[in-house]
Amino acid sequence: MHIDIFTLFPAMFQGPFQESILKRAMEQGLLSIAIHNIRDYATDKHHVTDDYPYGGGAGMVLKPEPIFAAVEAVLSQSAIANRQSKIENRKSEIPIILLSPQGRLFTQAVAQELAAHPRLALLCGHYEGVDERVRQHLATDEISIGDYVLTGGELPAMVIVDAVARLLPGVLDAASPLEESHASGLLEYAHYTRPPEFRGWAVPEVLLSGNHAAIARWRRQEALRRTRQRRPDLLARATLTAADKQFLQELEAEK
Ligand code: SAH
Repeated sequence: MHIDIFTLFPAMFQGPFQESILKRAMEQGLLSIAIHNIRDYATDKHHVTDDYPYGGGAGMVLKPEPIFAAVEAVLSQSAIANRQSKIENRKSEIPIILLSPQGRLFTQAVAQELAAHPRLALLCGHYEGVDERVRQHLATDEISIGDYVLTGGELPAMVIVDAVARLLPGVLDAASPLEESHASGLLEYAHYTRPPEFRGWAVPEVLLSGNHAAIARWRRQEALRRTRQRRPDLLARATLTAADKQFLQELEAEK
């Protein structure tokens, strides 16, 4: 997968992409990321990228011209390189995602949807936000990482890259993303590693038993128990087997 990120603050991306799993994914050629400085596409002498809001009010608004110029330069170059026929089709081929607290909420399901694309473009706003014409006529999607307001779209872009990258084939062990919290609609069960006893706190017996069926059952039940306790909203939407439902009834009866 290739991801283009458009930002006024490229230096913010140093670090998160240069460590651990993302670094390895890039070294293995599973992921490539290009950071584009919107300022480089401002054509006036002072490379102005923001301006006062029409109508007054606090904060600065990112101007449309440099953002359009940046995205059009980068994405149409690649369209030529890939011999993708029509530039008009570009918008639908590569999701152009504006990070915005007004966007659709980012979830594991959205991460999975994005991971299916060979290429993504992420636009980071800053200050008071971006000129509305970017949202209307350039972005093809708008995503929020949660119901709170940040100073810019840079951290949200990193969050999206991280969540999407770990779903790409080969980035993690094949089995792990499937079982995790949210992937199946449930929160994941608890994990333990050595030592079997730490400060008097023991690892659940069943995990040391070597009985794979019993371990699988324990994990499923722990996932159900946790989700019921912490996120009943998720449980209401999860796909449950007859055994799951019976276990949940037993929990109900315990009270
Ligand atoms: N005035 C705007 C908020 C601007 S925040 C409003 O009320 O809607 C500045 C920038 O930070 C936004 O343009 C966006 O790119 C980014 N941002 C802030 N919070 C975000 C969130 N929860 N999810 C995604 N992007 C966010």
